Amino acid sequence: MIENENEKRNRRLEVIAAAITPRKNLTVSQWADQHRELSGKQAGERGRWRTARNPILREIMDAMSASSRVTDIWVMKSSQVGVTEATVNFLGYCMDHAPAPVMVLMPTLDSRDAWKAQKLNPLLQETPVIRDLLGGQRSRDAANSKDMIDFPGGVLFLAGGNSPNSYAQRSVRYLIMDDLDRFPPEVGAEGDPVALARGRTKAFARAKRLYISTPTVRGESLIERGYAESDQRRYHVACPHCGQYQPLEWGGPEAAHGIKWRASEAGVEAWYVCAHCAAEIYEHHKPAMLAGGRWIASFPERATRGYHISALYAPIGLGPSWRDLVEEWKSAVKSPGTLRTFVNTHLGECWEEQGDQVEPVGLLARLEDYDEKARSLARTAGVDVQKDRLEVSVVDWDAGEEAWLMDHLIVPGDTAQPDVWKRLDEELAHWAPECVAVDSGYNTSMVYAYVEKRRWALAIKGRGGPGVPIVEDEKARRQRLRRQRKKGITVHIVGDDQAKALIYSRLKITERGPGYIHFPSDPSFDDEYFAQLTAEKLVTKMRGTRPYVEWVQTRPRNETLDCLKMALAALRLSGIDLKAREARRKTEAAPAPAEAAAKKKQQPIPHKIPTIGW
Ligand SMILES: [Zn+2]
Repeated sequence: MIENENEKRNRRLEVIAAAITPRKNLTVSQWADQHRELSGKQAGERGRWRTARNPILREIMDAMSASSRVTDIWVMKSSQVGVTEATVNFLGYCMDHAPAPVMVLMPTLDSRDAWKAQKLNPLLQETPVIRDLLGGQRSRDAANSKDMIDFPGGVLFLAGGNSPNSYAQRSVRYLIMDDLDRFPPEVGAEGDPVALARGRTKAFARAKRLYISTPTVRGESLIERGYAESDQRRYHVACPHCGQYQPLEWGGPEAAHGIKWRASEAGVEAWYVCAHCAAEIYEHHKPAMLAGGRWIASFPERATRGYHISALYAPIGLGPSWRDLVEEWKSAVKSPGTLRTFVNTHLGECWEEQGDQVEPVGLLARLEDYDEKARSLARTAGVDVQKDRLEVSVVDWDAGEEAWLMDHLIVPGDTAQPDVWKRLDEELAHWAPECVAVDSGYNTSMVYAYVEKRRWALAIKGRGGPGVPIVEDEKARRQRLRRQRKKGITVHIVGDDQAKALIYSRLKITERGPGYIHFPSDPSFDDEYFAQLTAEKLVTKMRGTRPYVEWVQTRPRNETLDCLKMALAALRLSGIDLKAREARRKTEAAPAPAEAAAKKKQQPIPHKIPTIGW
């Protein structure tokens, strides 16, 4: 009954809206070119909006026009490419030119408020036709209202995806979900936010829905899922040398085409290599290429539109240059965490978790004799605590975190009693690691008591979740430790999932050098050791209708993996600078490898306090 009443009301609204629609039918981009004023605060440039300045947005905006038959649009994008401003243009068009009820959903009420203040209010207050439309006092009220703006012939709802109320009782013709991948996976007891929001538009025969986001992790990303089912448009531009149309792609250092660079005294120089003629294309070619470009669908038969935008298309002055991207990439490539951010926010692509599963057999085949092993740059150990034993891996580290497993020990004994901890000291004294990380997940108080008296030992707490870094950045760690120290405990958080992903991706490296992991031919490194090391795999699961990836243990025991994870955490947390040590080693005359190895075996170095500042 209620739905029927709503439907009738909406029909009436549509009729009224059609009646008051101005005679001249503008598209969204035409409306923006005629009416939209930019204050400079929000868009980097002030004055009248010019679609020609960022031509890739024209088709996306025009697909939102009332005259377009497109109903669903998925925009998978990098950040800073102007899509938010295109959305604001659409809202202005909707208020002034094609009135209808419209809803903008942001992931949370907080992000809605921030978006309202930074993006929407400039439209309400600085674009003259909108300011006039709302009238002086009403325009100020509108700027202050958080969740609803009335305008002649329609209403704009502003909602937060984390609030079940946002999805209730509102019927709209136009729906915009921005920053989709940051929405909560489930809303209240009702489930999938996309399905819930979509339900709000079903009363309108000619509804439109726009979904926008920077993607996240492959298999978890909602925008990726929507784009995958769309017609998958990419913006093709013509090479200024051979005229062949192609989408711009990062390529990477190994690819034949894409972004290339060289470092010189003047800094980094970046250019683009054409996929067809291999000629060099420079930044100054970009404006003409963008102006002459066109969107091409991979699946033209599909009704749903999908647009992919990367920062490679940023117009000069409105986003990162190719050179800026190269600079970012050079620092991002150092770790999976920062590389993931680069891939998501600059390339607009999903991040693929590395290291799904490793086969233990391949690892057994590469056991080696360490007789010739040179002295490494650092040595750490990782300790896993079980009820009846401690397990310890001792690892040497070389440049680029090339790892040499030195030993894996099992120290039997009740870990709630002090004896086994004394034996741990004796074992460690033989190897003299500079830093030792102990998992505090079990028998926590004994672990705290142990690390408290030993400056080279750290208590570790593992934390799951794809977003938790292997170790915290220095600032976050200092802040947290300051708070904890007041309570008398110092525990270091280690991102379990990222650490596992890193170890598994490194186990797949087959060439000795940075990242490679060596195992000695020693009885401790047997079938059981490798079975435990490879005991986990990454699987895709469903939460409601939404896929996500998770590490799953395929065998009951995984202590050797945990020990290696702890040893890695110890290295990262110790403050040991492998690069500085490598530079020092190069300047010093290194002893012959055999001599160094022999020396190491015969004379265990007594425990020394690492020279780090905590
Ligand atoms: Zn070419």
